[in-house]
Amino acid sequence: MTADLLSPAPSLADAETTLRRVFGYDAFRGQQAAVISAVLKGQDVLAVLPTGGGKSLCYQIPAIVQPGLGLVISPLIALMSDQVQALEARGVRAARLDSTQGSSERGDIWDAARSGNLDLLYMSPEGLNNPFVRDALGRLKLNVIAIDEAHCISQWGHDFRPEYRLLGQVKSFFPGVPTLALTATADAHTRADIKAALHIDDAVEIVTSFDRPNLSLRFVRRKGSASKAVIEVLSRQKGASGIVYCGSRDGTEKLAEALKKEGFSAAAYHAGLPARTREERLTAFLSGKSKLMVATIAFGMGINKADVRFVIHADPPSSMEAYWQEVGRAGRDGKPASGVCFYNSGDLGWAIRRLTLRENEGAPDQIVQKQKARDFFQMVLGQNCRKQQVRGYFGEHGVEPCGTCDNCLSRGKTTDVTEAAQMLMSALARMNGPRGRKKLVDHVLGKANGPDFTTRMTTFGVAKGKGYSADLLAHALDLCEAHGLIEEELYQDRMPIVGLRDVTLVKSLFKGDLRLTAPSLR
Ligand code: ADP
Ligand code: MG
Ligand code: ZN
Repeated sequence: MTADLLSPAPSLADAETTLRRVFGYDAFRGQQAAVISAVLKGQDVLAVLPTGGGKSLCYQIPAIVQPGLGLVISPLIALMSDQVQALEARGVRAARLDSTQGSSERGDIWDAARSGNLDLLYMSPEGLNNPFVRDALGRLKLNVIAIDEAHCISQWGHDFRPEYRLLGQVKSFFPGVPTLALTATADAHTRADIKAALHIDDAVEIVTSFDRPNLSLRFVRRKGSASKAVIEVLSRQKGASGIVYCGSRDGTEKLAEALKKEGFSAAAYHAGLPARTREERLTAFLSGKSKLMVATIAFGMGINKADVRFVIHADPPSSMEAYWQEVGRAGRDGKPASGVCFYNSGDLGWAIRRLTLRENEGAPDQIVQKQKARDFFQMVLGQNCRKQQVRGYFGEHGVEPCGTCDNCLSRGKTTDVTEAAQMLMSALARMNGPRGRKKLVDHVLGKANGPDFTTRMTTFGVAKGKGYSADLLAHALDLCEAHGLIEEELYQDRMPIVGLRDVTLVKSLFKGDLRLTAPSLR
């Protein structure tokens, strides 16, 4: 204690020395220095740094340069093992505590911690459930508590993990220890929620720009099968490493098979595979032996592979956070990389339907998640610069168009679908109840199986001969859904149908206050 008081508190210069000596890097990147100096001053910090931005060093360095031990909470065992190994290889005293370890191994870790021979201790949030662990930690001198992937604590985030709730007690368990919450993606609402949940209301927020200049983004309306679409993109990639995200486990297996048949080096990855298989495939991918990881969202958190050249979404994700995190895994080395996201008519409807089903199964209401899906699809289906929209979503306003995304490159070539949307909305309004999308599109095009009351409506065939294709009308309908005019409803829990959701918005569409524009449809 006295020694701590007498020796001067470590400064940013000490941190820089450690950066060079231990990690072999010349300079801090982006906001690393700002985060580290705030932690060294004893402040609570919420840091939002992009994937690959170097979040780990933000807690590793303060833990090393200060007396005492840094506690790191991380959601995945694999992430912790990687970091501990990498630290040990650099001569840093690090350990991971988990419930699978035997008592002698755990005993050794606690001994090292007590005798001051440990700089970093990693554990999962569940670990804090154990009163012995809490008590033992309470007797140690902790110099920082880092909470990695902190968005997992927020219901407003895109990857809520119930076990993260436990972390709400960290401040009261270990008073006076600076807390550093880290995440790659959190909008303003999620950031506020993280601070409230962790009881670090006065935390300094350090948010880096969400720009990724080397990443070029493209969204493609998918025609035909996913494998055909993906293979077409891959044939232009010439053996580079990439990740292909699919919406389902089954989808990853099928697509990986199809790719292998075409001669690509691909493997599927999802949470349903045995741990060993996953580990083998991960290792093969990281080493470059296997080029393509065809995965569900279970893959990618915290992976450290700098030369991923592209991320393809065979199915679109359902929030901006998920999208940015997933596509952000491309080009971490700063060299040109690309993101191609396929989507189809009705994808937003599927996303909303899944959330409603979850509610029906007893989950808390999914209003926030539904809005996130709508916000994301406004970007997907719209004609504005992709990066401007992503960055705006995360609170970075007034930035220049990127000049490299599909919408920037096709500047000017957009389609005003306001009139098409008006026709569809007025047809739906007259139908006295929800209808299937195809039925609506056919209706305004004047197609029907036989005469009924709808074929006598004035909206029957209004779009006929006006140059609107069924695709364009379907796109307009999806845009109406993304803007909240209509909503997916569950009919007998199966049939995809849409009904009017917000009459005020529909009125503003009719008045022309709300205009809907699509990219030029290829
Ligand atoms: P994040 O957790 O933010 O996604 P990581 O902490 O895994 O990122 O770091 C990504 C990579 O960047 C790692 O290989 C790390 O060693 C490297 N890195 C971090 N900081 C620096 C730096 N200042 N200079 C050079 N490389 C760095
Ligand atoms: Mg990380
Ligand atoms: Zn752009």
